[in-house]
Amino acid sequence: MSELKNFEVKGKDKIKLKTFPHSPDKSVEKEKIIKRTQENLAKMERFQDKLYSEGKEGLVLIFQAMDAAGKDSTIKNVMSGLNPQGIDVYSFKVPNSEEIAHDFLWRASKRFPTRGKMAIFNRSYYEDVLVAKVHKLYESSPLPNRCKQGDVIGRRYKDIKNFEDYEYNNGYRIIKFFLNVSKDEQKKRFLERIDLQVKNWKFSSSDVKERAYWDDYMEAYESAINATATKNSPWYIIPADKKWYARYLVSEAIIEAFKKIKPEYPELGEFAKENLLHDRKLLIDEMNAKED
Ligand code: AMP
Ligand code: MG
Repeated sequence: MSELKNFEVKGKDKIKLKTFPHSPDKSVEKEKIIKRTQENLAKMERFQDKLYSEGKEGLVLIFQAMDAAGKDSTIKNVMSGLNPQGIDVYSFKVPNSEEIAHDFLWRASKRFPTRGKMAIFNRSYYEDVLVAKVHKLYESSPLPNRCKQGDVIGRRYKDIKNFEDYEYNNGYRIIKFFLNVSKDEQKKRFLERIDLQVKNWKFSSSDVKERAYWDDYMEAYESAINATATKNSPWYIIPADKKWYARYLVSEAIIEAFKKIKPEYPELGEFAKENLLHDRKLLIDEMNAKED
């Protein structure tokens, strides 16, 4: 059994975030893992080619995490194994005025790829049950009162679950990653961003302000994961203190999704096959005529 299973959440039992590790087991060998990641990236490229040629199913990868957990570099690593023509990457920031004026799923729904393609979401509609929950952002949203009363976040969980089922029923698979960095490792990475000039641009003082809400965020993640993990749209709680290990598990989860999709190159019908043979003959005749 792949070790990925230890980090997969499918909604059968409720999880406790505290029981999930931030680092690999001592027995895990770094060199082997790096080699397997390379092999997975090569497999991913072959799967993606078939996915694209078939054009039946779309695959959406969602990355959520605290700041400095390694979302950007993990995405960069995944991308290094894929054909850019078959994948879109989108980063969700604080909603702009047009986005705020729509329902919270609108901006993500618009970014779903055509079937046959993949999309990577760097953050997503989950922000609306994470940062929005921690800071009760909905209270100041331009919404009617009935939408701000009662269990606002609970209703959003249901909307997300329904939305993900809806996408699944329309030929999409969504897999969700929480890069589970420890509070200590985040501090180390923030300090590096401050101390190394080439990393200064990555740091924002609002990151330190959000860090102060660490426990609230962990509670929000745990409850969002428990409310929205399903067999068809699983969450993966990825230990993220060692980037090489996080990249490996992410690549394993993507391979797992491809295995479920089972993409195949389309086989042509009889008529199209005859056309191929006809065109082949034309090309061969042209070659022979040149040689004469
Ligand atoms: P970064 O990914 O570090 O560039 O930052 C993007 C910021 O946008 C993060 O602080 C997110 O919490 C914030 N953000 C993304 N989506 C939303 C949302 N729906 N509501 C409020 N803030 C959001
Ligand atoms: Mg940030």
